[in-house]
Amino acid sequence: MNNQEHSATRTPQPYSNEEAPPDMSSTHVREDVAKAGRCANVHLATGRTCTLPKRHPGSCNFVGPEDAESVAVK
Ligand SMILES: [Zn+2]
Repeated sequence: MNNQEHSATRTPQPYSNEEAPPDMSSTHVREDVAKAGRCANVHLATGRTCTLPKRHPGSCNFVGPEDAESVAVK
């Protein structure tokens, strides 16, 4: 098999260090966002929240408070 294709559409993610251990006690999670079934990981440096589905593959996609608010369960 010679499937050595180089897909130029796939840009490498610069966030390879972003993977946190599955220890939720040391992770900041927004509860109202987590209740919506989201990852809800909070990026402490920026205060942004990940609104991707829970256990999503790859790195988190942190969004601002307003976007997080729109998916949060009140
Ligand atoms: Zn995430």
